[in-house]
Amino acid sequence: MNTWDRPRTKLRIAMGICPDCGDNPAASGGKRCEHCRYRQNNRHRATYALRKRLGIPRYTEEQLRQEAEDKQAKRAARKASGLCIQCGSESKKFVRCTACRAKNAITKKRFRERRRAMAEFTKQTNEAQKKELIRKYAEISEGFSTRECSQFWREQEENNTEFWQELRDTCAPFTT
Ligand SMILES: [Zn+2]
Ligand SMILES: [Zn+2]
Repeated sequence: MNTWDRPRTKLRIAMGICPDCGDNPAASGGKRCEHCRYRQNNRHRATYALRKRLGIPRYTEEQLRQEAEDKQAKRAARKASGLCIQCGSESKKFVRCTACRAKNAITKKRFRERRRAMAEFTKQTNEAQKKELIRKYAEISEGFSTRECSQFWREQEENNTEFWQELRDTCAPFTT
């Protein structure tokens, strides 16, 4: 069950109470209280720093598929109006304008690389294991700033700690 689907979480949100700690009122513009939001932000930063360090791709196959579907719908609408299907500007008799055609050569290459990396990643790792690992190590660097996170992981790597070795061995196929 997703965390946000839990009855307790739903009740707390409905009451305007922070779903994480259940003690404080929700901060303006969000569901969590100031304190838990800060903690959550730090967890995200820690996870980001770790992913970057290990070269773990950010998007899942499902996200990539959804992204492509949305784009397709937008393009169809533009094509019907005789505009560049990519940026929506005047494209004369072409499907795409000149600028977009030039840009595409580069973008396509990058997209193919990202896809290939993701396919390789899903093939070689267990999704649950990966999540648990990231959660565990993100927790450790909780409270760090972005820079402290990067520094922390760099030190782990440089000193080749036991901690780092475990991490590296689990994610070995994805490090660059
Ligand atoms: Zn809270
Ligand atoms: Zn264009």
